[in-house]
Amino acid sequence: AIEIVQVHKAFGSLHVLKGVSLTVMPGTVTAILGPSGSGKSTLLRMINQLETRTGGEIFIEGELVGYKPLGNGGLRLLDDKEVAAQRSKIGMVFQRFNLFPHMTAVENVMEAPVHVGGVAKREAREQALNELDRVGLADRANYYPAQLSGGQQQRVAIARALAMHPSIMLFDEPTSALDPELVGEVLAVMRQVAKEGITMVVVTHEMGFAREVADQVVFMDQGVVVEHGGSDIIDHPQTERFGAFLKSVL
Ligand code: ATP
Ligand code: MG
Repeated sequence: AIEIVQVHKAFGSLHVLKGVSLTVMPGTVTAILGPSGSGKSTLLRMINQLETRTGGEIFIEGELVGYKPLGNGGLRLLDDKEVAAQRSKIGMVFQRFNLFPHMTAVENVMEAPVHVGGVAKREAREQALNELDRVGLADRANYYPAQLSGGQQQRVAIARALAMHPSIMLFDEPTSALDPELVGEVLAVMRQVAKEGITMVVVTHEMGFAREVADQVVFMDQGVVVEHGGSDIIDHPQTERFGAFLKSVL
């Protein structure tokens, strides 16, 4: 599980997260909705230690993220190795394709297993081809990112994250930079990942996907969780703010 307890984040005087608490159960899909600037990306980045937090605690599989509890009740910061070990459980896919442009699809997917995981190149290539097959891109293995459509690039990005066998996948608006006709193929791959039982947290504006796939829907606004519940809250918002947001996006 991912347990987020009263997390705060400030950038200077800008208080971006103001006590966010959230539990994501193993093997479930949580969709995070909310207007621009509400703190969705910041929260996701914090789970993956790409941001520090100014307050609160995050636990992943019961382990405190970023700190080690000491015998005397104090805490110390994790060292680089410990941080890497925690982060290795997590795969992340961003809005903008973050593939290495000078590497082919298969080279992108095998990069982390070889350089972080210490897997032999030959074996990593074989596994990478399997991952590409999983996202329907076996025939594009030797293409460079520039030779792929946006949807194909995002599918490679998903395959690349999956290649490290994460137990958690974080998606930050993975389809919002895509042409509309390419959104479906990426959502289809995400549906498939969800079926495989990987814990997923997805920031998205795709209400159809959230309604259909999410076990939990969270609506954030101005740095707080305004409303959360099952996917039925998309059709039956309990608060005026969520209702107004849904009207603005549907
Ligand atoms: P969007 O839907 O546009 O992606 P979001 O909900 O993901 O929005 P965040 O990216 O988390 O919002 O940003 C929340 C607030 O924090 C915004 O006001 C943003 O300008 C600010 N912010 C984010 N990162 C930084 C940073 N590194 N330094 C200063 N301010 C930041
Ligand atoms: Mg964002």
